[in-house]
Amino acid sequence: MRVIVYPGSFDPITNGHLEIAKEALKSFDKVVMLVADNDAKKARFTTEERFEMVKEAVEVIPGIEVYMTHGLTVDFAKKVGTHYLLRGIRDDADMSYENRYAELTYQLDKEIEFIYIKASEKFKGISSTKIDEMAKSGKDISKLVPKSVEIRYKKR
Ligand code: ADP
Repeated sequence: MRVIVYPGSFDPITNGHLEIAKEALKSFDKVVMLVADNDAKKARFTTEERFEMVKEAVEVIPGIEVYMTHGLTVDFAKKVGTHYLLRGIRDDADMSYENRYAELTYQLDKEIEFIYIKASEKFKGISSTKIDEMAKSGKDISKLVPKSVEIRYKKR
C-alpha cells in the first residue's frame, strides 16, 4: 500500500489543504494528515481543536486518516511505514520555505522523499492566517473552509 504523510499545523484546516490531500489520493492509497503539536509556533487553536476540525472534515473521504504527534514527523513516517511526505506549494514564498524545511528534514532522515503539489488558482490565495482574519472580521468563510472550521469560529 502506498502511504504518504501530510504534516502541517492546520491552524485551521482550509479547503486549500484539503485539495492537496485529495489530489495526493490519485497517486497514493492512503494520505495520513499529521497535525503538528508545535509549541514554537503560536497556534490559534489547540492541537486537539485543530485535530478535531481536520478529523471532521475528512470523515467522508475514504483514504484520508488523521493523527497528531508530539514527536518528529520523520519518526512518525517510519512508524506508519513510509518515507513520503506531502507538502503544498502556493507561491515563491512557499517554495523557499519548503526548500529550507526539506534541508532540515534531510538532516534528520536521508531516506525521506518530498512530494509537492501545486495549489490550484482557486485556492492558492488561501492561508490559515487569512481565514482567521476574515472570520474575526465577520466575513463569509463558508466557501474557503470545511464546515467543521466554520462552526468552530461561530462558537467563539
Ligand atoms: P506548516 O505550519 O507546517 O507550514 P500549514 O498548516 O501552514 O503547516 O501548511 C501545511 C502545508 O500545506 C504546507 O506545505 C503549506 O504550504 C500547504 N498549504 C497551506 N495552505 C495551502 C493552500 N491554500 N493550498 C495549497 N497548499 C497549502
